[in-house]
Amino acid sequence: DKHLKAGFTEHLSTCCYCGVGCGVSIQKDPLGRIWVEGEQGHPVNQGQLCSKGMNLHHTVNDTSDRLLYPEVRFGKSQPRQRVTWDIALERTAAVFRSLIEKYGPDSVAFYASGQCLTEEYYVINKLIKGFIGSNNIDTNSRLCMSSAVVGYKMALGEDSVPVSYEDLDHADVIFVAGANPAWCHPILWRRVEAAKERNPDLKIIVSDPRKTQTCSIADVHLQLNPGTDIILHHAIGRALIEMGAIDLAFVANHTEGFARYQESVMQRTLEEAAHLCGVSCKDILTAASYIKNAQGFMTMWTMGLNQSAVGVSKNLSLINLNLITGQIGRPGAGPLSLTGQPNAMGGREVGGLSNLLPAHRDLLNPEHRAEVEDFWSVPRGRIAAKPGLSATEMFEALESGKLKAVWIICTNPLISMPDVRRVEQAFKKAKFVVVQDISNKVETLAYADVVLPAASWAEKEGTMTNAERRISYLPKVLNAPGEAIPDAEIICRFAQKMGFKGFDFKNSADIYAEHVQLTQGTNVDMSGLSHAILKQKRTVQWPYTQGQSGHGTPRLFTDNQFFTASQKAQIHTVSDENTSEKISEEFPFILTTGRIRDQWHTMSKTGKVNKLKQHIHESFLEIHPEDAQKLGIQDQSLVEIENKRGLARVKAKLSPDIKKGVVFMPMHWGKMGKLDLNRANNLTQNLVDPKSKEPDFKFSAVSVKLYTKS
Ligand code: SF4
Repeated sequence: DKHLKAGFTEHLSTCCYCGVGCGVSIQKDPLGRIWVEGEQGHPVNQGQLCSKGMNLHHTVNDTSDRLLYPEVRFGKSQPRQRVTWDIALERTAAVFRSLIEKYGPDSVAFYASGQCLTEEYYVINKLIKGFIGSNNIDTNSRLCMSSAVVGYKMALGEDSVPVSYEDLDHADVIFVAGANPAWCHPILWRRVEAAKERNPDLKIIVSDPRKTQTCSIADVHLQLNPGTDIILHHAIGRALIEMGAIDLAFVANHTEGFARYQESVMQRTLEEAAHLCGVSCKDILTAASYIKNAQGFMTMWTMGLNQSAVGVSKNLSLINLNLITGQIGRPGAGPLSLTGQPNAMGGREVGGLSNLLPAHRDLLNPEHRAEVEDFWSVPRGRIAAKPGLSATEMFEALESGKLKAVWIICTNPLISMPDVRRVEQAFKKAKFVVVQDISNKVETLAYADVVLPAASWAEKEGTMTNAERRISYLPKVLNAPGEAIPDAEIICRFAQKMGFKGFDFKNSADIYAEHVQLTQGTNVDMSGLSHAILKQKRTVQWPYTQGQSGHGTPRLFTDNQFFTASQKAQIHTVSDENTSEKISEEFPFILTTGRIRDQWHTMSKTGKVNKLKQHIHESFLEIHPEDAQKLGIQDQSLVEIENKRGLARVKAKLSPDIKKGVVFMPMHWGKMGKLDLNRANNLTQNLVDPKSKEPDFKFSAVSVKLYTKS
């Protein structure tokens, strides 16, 4: 504590933005203000933080935008009024009870967030699945990594990231597909940059329709046409077969499906694949030759693959490259999906999606349902046998009137959901909307019948899991302002108002103890953990069984035994057809959306920090100069982007780094009403991958024109 100023206290926690999961040292002064630094010696970040993490304390110290008191509107035409917690929760319980009685348990739903702590996820999931009797719980993680969840499960038998970040130090080839970690997972990318500095022979392959910051250290950038990822992965697979780079012993002993895969990828010539992808044969062969010669080959991906109408197939076709080369289960080898949110993984562990059960149990498996029902002491048959509504289905059901009530927790769907104007219509139709949040600026408040003020990061305790299965404990450092309370406490108090037993937890540690007990004996076993152990060890990677020592399990499948029924990894043969929206004469450009370096989600936190606006302060449309010239558009011209779903109007940013025919808009900006022309999701659509239900944010057909005031 030598570096601490007099009167300050230090608290070790974890950054609440992206899934990298950097350790932070929070220093609190005697007046209750905090400062944040990177935690020295933390296995993820070794003291470093990116621009967002470095400015975390500003978002906490500034409480001017916080929701402070519960509010209720006792009739759609009435204004909301401040009430006590008891009245707010009793009112909500009364409305939920009456809707469930009249329309059944599926008339209500919870829409939560990958920023929720594991304990919060656990109690929300327990409440709706085990007690209300509906599986209508989904989260914004559906928009982020649900394609990876299905991809892992189909290929490896379990939603399990098999590697650790440490493997990036051992790899000698890293294939980054559909991701810009230099901006979106910056501290992890610093690790790759450092590895490249140490070892110039480390080869980096990047596939992306945009030449992003990540490409600055790429040895080969495959600047593919949007939607052609599977064709590219197959072409690399074919080249590896032709080069004799298949690990035949591994394939024969530890996988199934190679013969069919081989037959399938040989059907397209390299030239044909290269033409469709818009890349050169030479670059595909270069990438394949790097992989052929690799001692350790890692694949790394995120939204470019996940957010697609064929997201699961994109995941599988990439994971196949690890499987056919036997590059898994040893240092420096394996697939590493990056998660966008800090605790999307924790949510997966407790089954916090409409098609999952705790500890990665399968909702469709009657034995799994019975196990969970018995554990929760609820009658057999209480957990509904069919999946609940996924994120997009939830708002469609609200719009059609099938769903009557929605409870929104820690997320801002009026900016972040695809085809967001339909989401506005859905909220207008809703009979009852509960908004549980920290900010008085989230757009959903306009439709809230009940507002529940929640405690923020650093004002509550619990755990999160990062993208490498690393669990860490986050302490409560500050008291929440006003009457705000932790999310888990809100849910438990509501459950008790509903008359449900099993929510009288003493504290967050108590919830965690129940959660880990339910994981015992599963592939996600973390029954050896508790808050006390996590406080002492700082971080642990699951599985972590009872009596286990050390810091958990850095690497899975080291014995080449996979979690499938045959214990062999599955090489899936997938179609390379892209089923996204088609471009047309009327809408000839492909719009892709994504993040910028210094903003997070819908900016309800990062938007409060002036420093973070210095990098990019307003929305924009990135367009290739040749496309712009044909349309009479210059840099900074105001342009209109339109399709049958909506309109956006922002300034053009001319850049040769984007593929011709493709335009890019950041996903962060937008407001309801007149200012909504910044909002990229006016243009995106509800088309989803049929298996993962993840929306196709990366491919919308649009027109672009110079804006002229008429
Ligand atoms: Fe936070 Fe992610 Fe930045 Fe690390 S890389 S400081 S976890 S936003």
